[in-house]
Amino acid sequence: MKATIGLEIHVQLKTQSKLFCSCTTDIDDIEPNTAVCPICLGYPGSKPKLNKKAIEHGITIGIALESSIKPVIRFSRKNYFYPDMAKNYQITQYEVPLAEGGYLMVGDHRIGITRVHIEEDPAKLVHVGGGITNARETLIDYNRAGVPLVEIVTEPDITSTEEARDFLKKLSLILEHLGVYDPSGEGSLRVDANVSIDGGNRVEVKNITGFRNVEKALNYEVVRQRSAVNMGLPIVRETRHFDAETGVTSTLRLKEQEEDYGYIAEPDLTQIHLGVDLVGGLRASMPELPDQRIQRLVDRYGITRFQSDIIVNTGLRMSVFYEKCCELYSNSKTVANWLVTYLLKSLNYEGMSLEESKISPETFTELLTMMDDGTISERLAKELIKDYVKTGKSPRKLVEEKNLALLPVDELRVVVGEIVSENPQAVADYRSGKTKAAEYLIGQVLRKVRARAAANTVRELVLEALKEN
Ligand SMILES: [Zn+2]
Repeated sequence: MKATIGLEIHVQLKTQSKLFCSCTTDIDDIEPNTAVCPICLGYPGSKPKLNKKAIEHGITIGIALESSIKPVIRFSRKNYFYPDMAKNYQITQYEVPLAEGGYLMVGDHRIGITRVHIEEDPAKLVHVGGGITNARETLIDYNRAGVPLVEIVTEPDITSTEEARDFLKKLSLILEHLGVYDPSGEGSLRVDANVSIDGGNRVEVKNITGFRNVEKALNYEVVRQRSAVNMGLPIVRETRHFDAETGVTSTLRLKEQEEDYGYIAEPDLTQIHLGVDLVGGLRASMPELPDQRIQRLVDRYGITRFQSDIIVNTGLRMSVFYEKCCELYSNSKTVANWLVTYLLKSLNYEGMSLEESKISPETFTELLTMMDDGTISERLAKELIKDYVKTGKSPRKLVEEKNLALLPVDELRVVVGEIVSENPQAVADYRSGKTKAAEYLIGQVLRKVRARAAANTVRELVLEALKEN
């Protein structure tokens, strides 16, 4: 059974003030209902004033998605009766969006973009003592009302949950590169998904926050619809709510048609002519996009495509981290090897992102330098990187604190001498031609000094000692 998935992605745009007023958008850590004014509360007589930055962000998103930018845009009022908009309508774009058409490649599959438009975010509803369907009461925080959003609507071209996930990851990375969105913000990317099976009725799952939840919600919905079809039950056209706690979708309301909203043109905002200069200027100053960056890292630093792919796809901060390391440390291939193989592994193991850890390009390259100048062995570096990622402490300090630096050769020679005299049998075996006995002695020395010696040096010293005796 074939799944058909279309996504509507709402992304909070990075601007200092709201879409139609000067209230701040920095609202994560402030008291509810403090970043509000007559405009975003919809007082009678107040008039919206359009935030130019939000429109510019929308245009760059349209350009990155190969959409065609409309020369003249308009806004509409989407009328509905719900407390999350004090005005009883949301200002959005209906008839004429900012951009139409375009696509995004996921692997070899082209996912069509239907439209890109700008709208204001509604208020945040906090359901007390239950979920959306059974809460005792609901609190409203209007701080979020009026924050600029871009809505990106895809064609129903997505064919699996995994593809939806990959699409969103790529889109998020592009938005991050454009500098229009903060991926770490609370609820900065929310998704409505339309799902159908074998051309059946479309079900919309509303308001899913975060990549992992999109995957969970889609998995649940695809399985639910498949088993309904298998049992001969009808799929009802409806809107469903996804509960992130239980991982289950449930009926919210029968699907309304777009026409049910009663759109009217927003009379307080006249037609806006974007102008060739504005769009052309933004086109000319487009930042580097992820695919271009992957290629550039390969060309510039001589690393493999596989490595570049991992570095760039981990997030913008990781590729900036990598390039900064290359400024501080001359061998860019070594940096890539250690970053991809050991640093990312340790971060994953700790369940940390680069931003959450305290590591820096300065301290990471310190680890590589210490290997080069013989302070620590490669083996120890691989061990040390775990502690380093966990604590963010300078590797040099960690080595000092734990007394892990390589032993000076003289001290090592003493240890070798001890091991040799403690093991006369092995020495005799070696001399009678059983060269393997040397391996035993090397093993004993390494065990005694733990990671504080390079295996090669120990081998040399043991062979030297065996010759002398
Ligand atoms: Zn306001």
